[in-house]
Parts: sequence; structure tokens; C-alpha cells
Amino acid sequence: MTKHVTIVEDDPDVRAVLERSLGADGYRVTSLESGAGIEDVMASGDVDLVILDIGLPDIDGLTITQQIRRYSDVAIIIVSGRGDLADRVVGLEIGADDYVTKPFEPREIQARVRSVLRRGRHQRGDADQHAGDAHQRFGFGNWTLDTTAQSLNDAQGRPLGLTSGEFKLLEALVTRANRVLSRDQLMDACYGNASPAFDRSIDVCVGRLRKKLLDDPRNPAIIRTVRNGGYIFSARVIRH
Ligand code: CA
Repeated sequence: MTKHVTIVEDDPDVRAVLERSLGADGYRVTSLESGAGIEDVMASGDVDLVILDIGLPDIDGLTITQQIRRYSDVAIIIVSGRGDLADRVVGLEIGADDYVTKPFEPREIQARVRSVLRRGRHQRGDADQHAGDAHQRFGFGNWTLDTTAQSLNDAQGRPLGLTSGEFKLLEALVTRANRVLSRDQLMDACYGNASPAFDRSIDVCVGRLRKKLLDDPRNPAIIRTVRNGGYIFSARVIRH
């Protein structure tokens, strides 16, 4: 099925480069010059990826990311003229899947888009689609991770929204519980051969996961930090 990518970018030149490179890769592209129409496009329900510029005339891209994350786990790539680490960290912390700094080559954006879309994501309702399959389920604490349905449910069976990066990281940790995993190993598990965004992205993603799993960041019981090592998933995992 043709993937639908929505671009929000006010610079007509950058917009044209994005439209051309994504169109050439066979995506259906919707372009917006500002954040004003994004909710309407999202309401169509068929958007697979949103590419957001940070500096927009009305609402900035970071705010739009936060707004979208309240109701959707759609893939989000932030594009910015500002390459500083703080912006990247904020962008990823609030739930963007990747961050690209301008100027970029068409090939770079094409690779990032492919990578983000390939990682797939947890989608509500996926569980039904997989009904009848032999599900791989892992229980820990009050949580159940279903790697077949790509879902994480609480004790009441309610799904918790995870971005693709969060899901991959959690899957890597849970399936290798009680082993120290280096940041490199976790980067590989999350991003495969795609160029890693930057080293700190694993730490940012672990921080988000701890928050969602209600793991106290100062004294974590589920995902522990190993000094100079990486991370260890230290909750007891029961395989269902
Ligand atoms: Ca701009």
C-alpha cells in the first residue's frame, strides 16, 4: 500500500525538495505551508509519517509534535535549521522518531523516511489483526509486552501508546533481560543499519520508557543504568 507522508514546511524550496524526493520514492505526499491544517489531515486517519519543520510561521514544529502525540503514534521526523543537541533531545523526548538538520541531501531524507517507516510502529487495533497467531508475550511487573501484536498492555489489559523506537528498545531489553546491553547493542536493535541519530538517543528513549512504565528515574527497578556499561532490564520476565 502506498504510504502517505505529510510535510509541514513553510520554506518553498525545502518543501519542493521534500516533495520531489519523496514523490520519487513512490510516497503519496500532502504538503502544508503551516501547522494550521495538520489536524484536518491527521483526521483522515491514513497518515503514515509527518515531516515537521521546527520554525513555522504559526505553531512551531515541537508544539505540533506534542499535540499530535496526544492522540496519535504516527511516525514523526523533525526537520530543523538548528542542529544543536538541546533541540534534538527535546524533539526526541517529546516523541519524534528522528531529527534531520538542514541543509540535507535528498538521499539523506529518503533514507531516514525509509528507516522510520520500516521500523513500523505500534498501532491500536493491531492485536485484532493478529488474532489466532501464536503470540509472543512477555510479562513483567504489571505489564505484558506482546511482540507479535507490537503492543504493551497494563494489568487491566489497556494498551499503552509507544513510538516505534520505544517499542524496539523495550523489545530488545525484555527479550535479553538480566544481561548488560551496551548503547551500541541497543542502537543496533532499535535502528539496525540505518544511520544512528546520535548516541544520546538511547538515553532519551530509555528516559521516556521509564516514564511510561512508571519506573522511578532516580531509583529505577525495571531498566537500570550500568555505569560505563549501558542498561540492564532487571525486572523478572515471565514468558507466556
Ligand atoms: Ca521554516
